[in-house]
This record gives sequence, C-alpha cells and structure tokens, in this order.
Amino acid sequence: MCASRLTMRRVKKETLEVVEKAKPKRKRQKTHKDDEPSGAVLRSAYHTFCEPADVGHLRTRLLSWYDLEKRELPWRTLALIEPDVNIRTYAVWVSEIMLQQTQVATVIDYYTKWMKRWPTVSDLSAATLEEVNQMWAGLGYYSRGKRLHEGAQKVVSKLDGQMPDTVDELLRQLPGVGRYTAAAIGSIALGQVTGAVDGNVIRVLCRMRAIGADCTSPAVTEALWTLANALVDPKRPGDFNQAMMELGARVCTPKGPLCEQCPVRSQCHSYRKVQSKREQNSKRLLVENDMKPPALPDIEDCSASGTCPLCAPEPWDEELGAQNFPRKPAKKPPRVERTLTCVLTRRGEGGEDEFLLMQRPNKGLLAGLWEFPSLVLEKEDKSEKKHKMALCVHLDKHLDAPLTQSSLHYVGEVVHIFSHIRQTYVVHTLHLGDAEAPLRTGNVRWVSRAALREAAVSTGVKKILKLCDSARLQKEQNSPDAKRQKDDDKKRPRSAKKAKMKASVGSNKQLSLTSFFRTTKQETC
Ligand code: SF4
Ligand code: ZN
Repeated sequence: MCASRLTMRRVKKETLEVVEKAKPKRKRQKTHKDDEPSGAVLRSAYHTFCEPADVGHLRTRLLSWYDLEKRELPWRTLALIEPDVNIRTYAVWVSEIMLQQTQVATVIDYYTKWMKRWPTVSDLSAATLEEVNQMWAGLGYYSRGKRLHEGAQKVVSKLDGQMPDTVDELLRQLPGVGRYTAAAIGSIALGQVTGAVDGNVIRVLCRMRAIGADCTSPAVTEALWTLANALVDPKRPGDFNQAMMELGARVCTPKGPLCEQCPVRSQCHSYRKVQSKREQNSKRLLVENDMKPPALPDIEDCSASGTCPLCAPEPWDEELGAQNFPRKPAKKPPRVERTLTCVLTRRGEGGEDEFLLMQRPNKGLLAGLWEFPSLVLEKEDKSEKKHKMALCVHLDKHLDAPLTQSSLHYVGEVVHIFSHIRQTYVVHTLHLGDAEAPLRTGNVRWVSRAALREAAVSTGVKKILKLCDSARLQKEQNSPDAKRQKDDDKKRPRSAKKAKMKASVGSNKQLSLTSFFRTTKQETC
C-alpha cells in the first residue's frame, strides 16, 4: 500500500480537524449556515492536501502546463514586462475589474484602448466620469468603471499617486476591490504569496477535493481560501493563481470538463471517482458474464460524510461525473420589467436629426448613463392608448413641445437581459420636425446621431436605435415615393446615377461631441 494511502487511512481514523474560521472581511450574506454553531468550521482531511509532496507535485504539473499552454493576453504581457510597480499594479487592477463578469475575449479590446488612453493611475484620475462611462459603454456592469475612476482619484489625492502595495491595503483603499481582486492584484503585480479564489478556482478546487456542499456557504468559502493559500507556489504566486484560473477556464470547464487533458487529474478526487465507478460497472459486467474481475483500487471517501459541512448533501450522480461539483444554490429567476421608451427626434441646425437623451440617476442600475426618455411600467398594462398617454405626460415634464398621443408611433419591443432583470423596452418614436422644443430640466440633452454613437449609453439603447432605424428603412422602402424613385432609377442612365450619389454625400454638420461632454461633465462629477 502506498505511503499516501496509509496516510489517508491514518487520517480517516482521526476525528474531524477543527479549522479556525478567518474573520470575514465584509458583511456576510445571511444563509442557513449562519444558524450553525459559530467560531469554528469542521473540515475533513479528505477535502485537503495532507502530504507536502502532493502539494509540490500539483504546483509543478500545473505550472509546467501553464508555461506551455497559457494564452498571451495584453494584461499578462504588461504584468511581465512593466518594470514600474505602480503602473504594473494599476494595469492589473484595471484588467481584474474588467474581467469581473465579462469574458476574456470581450475584455481584450476594451483593455487595450483603456491603457492606451489612460496608461497610468494619474491619467485616469484626470479623466471625467463621462469619458470613463463612454469608454465602458457596452462592457456592462457600469458601476465597475465608476469605481475604477473613484479609486484612481483617491490614489492621486490621498495616497500621493502611489497604488497600495499590499493585499490588505488594496482591500482597504480601493473601492470595488474585494477579497479575490486584492489577492489577484497582490499576487500578479506585487508577487505577494496568497491564493486567489474566483469562480474558476472554486470549480477546480471543489472538483479536485470533492467539495459538494453549497459553494457560496461561509464554511465552503473559508475552506476554499484555506486550500488556495496552502497550494499557492511561494516562488511564483501570480503565475500559480493565473494557472488555476486558466485551468478552470479552458480544461475544468463548467460543462464537459476535459479531464483526459488535465495536468492534475492524478490528484483529482472527481476524476478518480469517475474512473472507479467505470471500473465497478465493468466488474459487474464481468461477474454477470462469469469472468474474473480485476483488482479494484479502494475508493477513498470523506470520513465524516453525513456530518461534514463540505460534503455534498445528495449522493454522487454517475451521469454528471465531475460536474457533480461545485454545487450552487438555485438561482433566482430574473425580475421581469417592462419599460416604455420614446425615441424623440427633431430636425437640427444642419438638417440632420437630433435625439433627446435623458441622464439616469447617479446611483443604481446604469448609474449616470444616458438613455432615451423611459418610464418603467408599474403593472402589466397592454393598452397602447394608456402607454402613449403616460409617455406624453412623462415627456412633458422635461420638454416644452407640442406632444400629442397621435404623434407617437409604436415601433416594437426590444428585450435586454441584465444579470437580475429581464427588461423589455416598449419602443415608440416621435418626430417634432422643426419645433424649438426648449428643455425644462437639466438632465436632458439634444444630441446628434454622431454624438449618440459616442455617448455613454448602454447596449439596450443601441438595440432600441437599431430597431427604429430598421423600421424606418422598411417604411421608406415601401413608400409610394420610394417605389416611384426605383422605377425612375431603372430608366435613368448610369452617369446621372453617379452624379446623384455624389450629391447625396454632403457635409453632415453634427453637434460637437467635445462640447456635449463638456456640458455634461459638470453635472456628473
Ligand atoms: Fe477538473 Fe477533470 Fe482536472 Fe479534475 S481531472 S481538475 S475534474 S478537469
Ligand atoms: Zn466531507
């Protein structure tokens, strides 16, 4: 019997190990686990790595795989080659914030543009929130950009432009930086020896150590951090943490993990469990066929299963295999919301259409972003007449213009999914022609189409504009004028068509973007 198995047997005889629970850094979420006796978390040795040799083996295998397989990403390159620790810390901070809830492929472009525009923390602190929101447009979870901006201003005004240089200080000083982000920045940019537990690492560790209890519970969270801190390679903490994340993102994926390609499968309880079950099944088949079965390895299990706070409450599901872990609490369905919105236009000075935009409040969903005037429907009321009436009343508060229900046109619906809201925009248009339409409130602006494209607006607004554009195009194509024009075009010689095209490419005088954002700056900062 091998040394590690003997150790496991010895450990199994021992009673449960008591691990001091670290003090929570932030207010804990109240869960059913909060009802348990406080002060200590019971943890079985089955869910840890007991042998130092196992830990060494895991580090070596994981890092060798990472060195060969890692993706070249701009923030990784920057963290490797940037000699200035202040810039390095800032650069990793930006990447970690962008990567929260957003996929790597999407972040790459945003990150590259961001670092080109604001290469240092003081460059970012000198930007306006409007410029930051504008740069962030389309990336989602807009409060992240706002916090980065706030953090940069704090670093410059309170910390003399110097980024915090320890995990604790990062956590204490920077808004929007939690336990994971501080650990990731600390290990990658500053070489601090700390584990970092994000969603990918949770999955890898839960599978490797068969942790099947609710992975959001305090007991599991603390066990995972303890495990990550014990495993991290003190010589290459940043690479080790990135390797764990890379493994979770590319091999130990949520669905269909590629266990046969996994560099640490020999140390993975889930992998061994899948293999053992397979062998047991084939043994059963051999017995049924009267053949001699092969000797099977023992399947180690948690000595305390039944009372262990880290074990799965349900039995192992063979069909799921490694996907038995991790377990999450059932997700709440998103809140369903319907919002009336109006794309209100008028003819601007150069003859081009201008759009009315309204700024959202500085707190809450899409804080500080610009959108078409909108009104959340209180209850499910499908009457178009009532919708139009409500929109007219809403618009009238902000604009002195001849608004009538009959001039509002229903265009269609746009669905946009936020993390916790399924939003349906009920879209209307209203064109005021040459009407003056003075503004009654400070949070509305007329902007040109070019300014709208560049403005800090959400993806929902872009979808609404797209719907209106395609509806208008369709209408134009089906109009009697368009049909007559088409017939005329067919008859007209080629040279005349070219001349007409040239004439149509005129000078489109738009509102200046700079002046638009200069006016909004004072309101948002
Ligand atoms: Fe994940 Fe499979 Fe590797 Fe285990 S062997 S860590 S389940 S990919
Ligand atoms: Zn257990």
